[in-house]
Amino acid sequence: MSIAANISAIKKEIGNSNVKLIAVSKTKPIESITEAYEAGQRLFGENMVQELVEKYEKLPKDIEWHLIGHLQTNKVKYIAPFISMIHSVDSLKLLQEINKQALKNNRVIDCLLQLEIADEETKFGMDLAEAIELLRSDEFQELKNVRICGVMGIATLTDNPKMTAEEFYELSTFYKGLKDTFFRKDPAFKEISMGMSSDYLLAIEKGSTMIRLGSTIFGGRQAKAK
Ligand SMILES: *Cc1c(COP(=O)(O)O)cnc(C)c1O
Repeated sequence: MSIAANISAIKKEIGNSNVKLIAVSKTKPIESITEAYEAGQRLFGENMVQELVEKYEKLPKDIEWHLIGHLQTNKVKYIAPFISMIHSVDSLKLLQEINKQALKNNRVIDCLLQLEIADEETKFGMDLAEAIELLRSDEFQELKNVRICGVMGIATLTDNPKMTAEEFYELSTFYKGLKDTFFRKDPAFKEISMGMSSDYLLAIEKGSTMIRLGSTIFGGRQAKAK
């Protein structure tokens, strides 16, 4: 199927729910992104800063770019002028740098807190206690140029749907806890970014508001040599 047909099939599947479709275009060429763009897609996700900046420069400016991969503090400055949302905030230090660069660009940058839900000790993402500590800190209260819009998580790579369902349920529960404790009066805190090509229907069932789909839209990726 073509990229346009894939997008339209997914849209049909998710119906007119509130779920936003992020087309994960990492490793994919400009032509493929253009094809998706021409099919009406405007939200794209990338995981590498340099690749993201290059694509941003070449493509139409009404695309909303989402950073979904790990972000190093020294690279925030390259995306701060244009990024729509950063899904991968995993420390106060990173959030402070995003705030600093957002201020320089006279903007407020939307962010999600990446929470650890996978079974294995993954390198990135905070546990719930760390997220709470961040949100309680005086340093966080001073940040005026970032807006926390919700949470993001990546489930364990497994073919056991029960395990995936439990992890998605856990993230939804974390979201609700943080919403009630810190964001009760903040309508911007409304996103749960979870679900990839292999598990997005399950993620939606468990409350996802943003699904991040790469291979379902663009076809498989070549493993990238380091
Ligand atoms: C690559 C990636 C995706 C998309 O993966 P697919 O399985 O191709 O849908 C989603 N989220 C993150 C964080 C990714 O790195």
